[in-house]
Amino acid sequence: MNGFFGMHAFGEGFRAHQQAVERQMDAVDASIQKTQISSDVRFLEDRLDKLLLVCSALWELLRDRTDLTEDDLLAKVQEVDLRDGQADGKITRTVKKCPKCGRTMSPRHKQCLYCGEPDLSAGAFDAAT
Ligand SMILES: [Zn+2]
Repeated sequence: MNGFFGMHAFGEGFRAHQQAVERQMDAVDASIQKTQISSDVRFLEDRLDKLLLVCSALWELLRDRTDLTEDDLLAKVQEVDLRDGQADGKITRTVKKCPKCGRTMSPRHKQCLYCGEPDLSAGAFDAAT
């Protein structure tokens, strides 16, 4: 009897210990994930700052060397913003269908992944591959 209860208590103790270890591992996983997300956000903020800097410099070069004005820039921003049908301050990518096979074309590729048809509507800001 004593041996049986001893094993039972040991088993419960082991399960409790196992659950505690699993909780600690989950906490470590969450902490690692949080650190990774913070790092990703910092990386994206740095890239965004660099992009804003280069865009500002490009705009100033263009403004200083042409007769374009700030109003021209704002009008163009509004025109481009409205191309997707919504004045929301961003360009929303629409799903394109392959003109040859009719399947959905990935915006990340310059050709149809199914039949190889080139995406002739892809612009300079679309995928490079
Ligand atoms: Zn296709």
